[in-house]
This record gives sequence, C-alpha cells and structure tokens, in this order.
Amino acid sequence: MKIIVQKFGGTAVATTENRKNAAKKIINCKKSGFWPVVVVSAIGREGAPYATDTLFNFAKEVNSDIELRELDLIMSCGETISSVIMANTLKDLGYQAIALTGGQAGIYTDHSYGNAEVIDVNPKRILKSLKEGKIPVVAGFQGIADDGDLTTLGRGGSDFTAAILAEALNAHSIEIYTDVDGIMTADPRLVPNAKVLKTISYEEVFQIADQGAKVIYSKAVEIAKRCGIPVLIKNAANDLPGTLITSYSSKDKKKIIEDPNVVITGITYILDRTQISVENIDDIDDNLLHRFAKNNISLDVINIFPSKLVFTVDGPMTSKAEHILDESKYNYKTIKNCSKISAVGSRMKGVPGVIARIYSALKKSGIEILQTADSHTTISCIVRNQDTVKAVIALHDEFELWKR
Ligand code: ADP
Ligand code: MG
Repeated sequence: MKIIVQKFGGTAVATTENRKNAAKKIINCKKSGFWPVVVVSAIGREGAPYATDTLFNFAKEVNSDIELRELDLIMSCGETISSVIMANTLKDLGYQAIALTGGQAGIYTDHSYGNAEVIDVNPKRILKSLKEGKIPVVAGFQGIADDGDLTTLGRGGSDFTAAILAEALNAHSIEIYTDVDGIMTADPRLVPNAKVLKTISYEEVFQIADQGAKVIYSKAVEIAKRCGIPVLIKNAANDLPGTLITSYSSKDKKKIIEDPNVVITGITYILDRTQISVENIDDIDDNLLHRFAKNNISLDVINIFPSKLVFTVDGPMTSKAEHILDESKYNYKTIKNCSKISAVGSRMKGVPGVIARIYSALKKSGIEILQTADSHTTISCIVRNQDTVKAVIALHDEFELWKR
C-alpha cells in the first residue's frame, strides 16, 4: 500500500473553488495508484469565521483567563470543521471519504495544552478506512490525551500531523499544499523576485523554517528526515512542480563548492525580537540563566563576554525578562522592535568572506547591525524591525538569489 499524506493549508481549503481544486489533487493521487491520507488545517486565515485565530480571539473575549484545557477544545474546532467539509467535498464528487479528529486518527499526546507533545501514534483507524475504500480526512493540529482531553500541537501543527502520520504509515511521500509555488529564496511577500527552489535538503529547509519561513514547520521536516520520507511543497492553486525536500546528492555538493553564491540558499526573518544587554557584570550568575529557563523565556542570539551578556527574546516576553533582571538589580539596556535576519546555507562553513559580504551589503543599505550570530548553516543579524524588508532584499541581492 503506497500511501501519500497530502496536507492542505488554510488557504487551500478556504473557498468552495479551492476545496474543489484540493479534491482534484486527492482524486488524481488515488487515480495514479496511491492511497491518499488527507490532513487539513482550519478554513481560511485570521478573520475567517472558523480560523484558529478567530476562535482564539473569541474565547479570550469571553474570558481572558480561559483555562488552557478549554482553549484547546475551542481551538481544535477549526480543523474538525475543515475535515468534515473536505470529506464531504470528496463525497459530493462521488468518492468515499471519512472525516477523523486527531484522536480518532490515533494521535496521542501529553497534557501540555497549546503545545502538546505527541507520545504515540496508532493509525489503525486510518488503515481500516483505507481498506474500506474511504479516503481519510484528518483534522490537523490536534491530538488526544489519555483522559480524553483534546489537545493542540502548537504553531505549524497541521504540518506536524502530516509528518507524524506519514511516519506511522510508512508513507511513500508527504505533499504540503499551500499558497505559494514552493520553498522560495525568501518570503515572496517581501521579495517580489524571490525564486522557487526546485530541490532543497532536509537540513537547509529545517534551518529556513526554524529561522522564520512559515511555509513548513521545522519539526515536521525533522520527522520527515528521520524516516527518510521525501516532502513536496506545492501551490494548491496550480500544477507547478513545487519544491522537493530530500537529501542532497554528491553532484549538488560539488556545484555548491564551485559557485560562491550557492553557499546561501535563502534569506529569512523573524519579526518582533527584543535585544537585551546586561552590562557591568563581573560574573554571570548561573541562577540568572536558570531563572529565564524556569520562566519559559527562551534566549536566542546569546553572546557572553567577561563582563557583559547580550541576548534576544521574543517580543511578548520582554516585560517578563525585564522583571527578572530588575529583581536581581542588574544594569541592562533594552532595544525593542528588532528583527532577526538570517542567511541560510548548508555549505557556508569554511567558505571565506560570507560574513564580510553580509556586513557590507547591510552597511551599503544604511542598516545598522545590532548583533550577529553564526552556525555552520546560518548567519543571523539583529536589526531594527523597520529595516527588515530592506535587509532581506539587500542580502537576497548580494547573493544573487533571484538567479536561482
Ligand atoms: P499554510 O496556511 O498553507 O500552512 P503558511 O502561511 O503557514 O501557509 O505558509 C505559507 C506562507 O509562508 C507564504 O504565503 C509565504 O508568505 C510564507 N513564506 C515565508 N518564507 C517563505 C519562503 N522562503 N518560501 C515560501 N514561502 C514563504
Ligand atoms: Mg503553515
């Protein structure tokens, strides 16, 4: 049984026409001899009546302190509705289908409401449905805890659902249908001449996703990589080939060494970071770092100097972080409204001059770099939010990514 897990994002199921297009892709998959297992996100983007954000805002309006357990219950409704609507779109076209919640599809989680961890997947109901000739349409983003509570899987949850089901079903491949033509050299909303990448390695797309590109969730890539399942990212609205995520061949590696621009694959950004510099410290109190961790404040772009500590936090965490520093009477400086711009490329290690080119390109565009960080696949710069678009375009141009 060659299963393909097909995931349709919010826009891909937003209108009757879009759902018909989605149904065509599912039916074509079946006609070409594969067994489609469908995963859907909630219908539409923020503002749409059953979109996840709409349900979240509605619940918070009624009770700003709503229990997380109940918040998950309402938030999971968007995907449940979407699965019923999509299953019935297929039925309307003459195909047998069955809508399943995450729990019915066998996705078991812990009780970390809002960001639940999947602890087991048992796809027996999906397999039974397939054997009965029905196309399973699974509500993404949700699971069930051992006491029957509904849980949600956090940001990018439907991509994650697709990946864990693909792993449990030993699927042939995963197809992610979204509103762009594939993984691009930068977010096309910011960079009009961004290009679609025909192929990309798991490692690179993981970094691209982890550093802000919403197009696929990094944890979903991680799972696909660990079980070696190829992932295709495609536009739900057309028949273009999209991007294939897989392991790089040695031919690709050779090409990378020969072309100095190929060291960079894409430019990403994360908005709303706050930079905090703690000054005049002789010794960083271990406790300080532990207290950030205990309060679930994750620190990023951390530079530790003998008498100084600089890091960034997610914007909404700023006051919590400041409170901790105030309590311990640290001297610090905060720069709010920053963004993190990253140049991602799996083979930049050992290639000289990459950081120099980044520095010059940003400087030439009049952008002040507040901080940098690098790993063997990523160079990141903290800049002010207002410089985000200029910075992404400057780096995209510097590495001639529009030529891809
Ligand atoms: P879906 O609802 O289908 O899951 P998302 O909004 O989560 O869609 O992801 C698709 C969006 O990701 C695109 O509309 C695009 O603006 C954004 N995006 C950001 N960076 C990239 C990139 N490098 N390549 C493609 N899309 C990107
Ligand atoms: Mg998404």
